[in-house]
Amino acid sequence: MKHNMPQLPYAQNELAPRMSAETLSYHYGKHLQTYVDNLNKLVVGTPYEDMPLGDIVRKAEGPVFNNAAQTWNHTFFFDSLSPAPVAMPGELERELVKHFGSVNAFKEKLLGTAATLFGSGWAWLVADKDGRLSVKAGSNAYNPLREGFCPLLAVDVWEHAYYIDYRNRRPDYLEALWELTDWQKVARRLEGTECNVYV
Ligand code: MN
Repeated sequence: MKHNMPQLPYAQNELAPRMSAETLSYHYGKHLQTYVDNLNKLVVGTPYEDMPLGDIVRKAEGPVFNNAAQTWNHTFFFDSLSPAPVAMPGELERELVKHFGSVNAFKEKLLGTAATLFGSGWAWLVADKDGRLSVKAGSNAYNPLREGFCPLLAVDVWEHAYYIDYRNRRPDYLEALWELTDWQKVARRLEGTECNVYV
């Protein structure tokens, strides 16, 4: 099974000034492309060769896991951004209030967790099988599917995600990312009783 680059739901210059075309040309055009290319090379002749991406993320270890998870995570991350502000749907807002106390408390938890994650990694909003929401974070290519959680929103805190636009100011990048988030997509992933992600 050949893994492909996802299409972006916006042009590469449409997220500026919060995320520049130069950042997207490197982050999407070079970093993600490299993960996809490496994954396609690494799975040849292995049990992962014909496995869907989500299953590889759940089962693989080492370089296959790293490149599969980075492919999954970035596909999900880039799909979660919008050039125009997207208001948070009421149903999602109610769930966030229920599990975090307020939308602002959720924002502080997610962005605070992302800001203080040491080194490269990812922070996530996830749902468990009973629909309870929480924030998870981990190093490198961390993906919460491996722990049975349903990913709702991904925050990339590798330096390649923000160094062109924000240099070392990770919190400024995180504020911009909050503004770029397509809350409609986050809400849609939460709909239904099963994990509603696409891979
Ligand atoms: Mn990245």
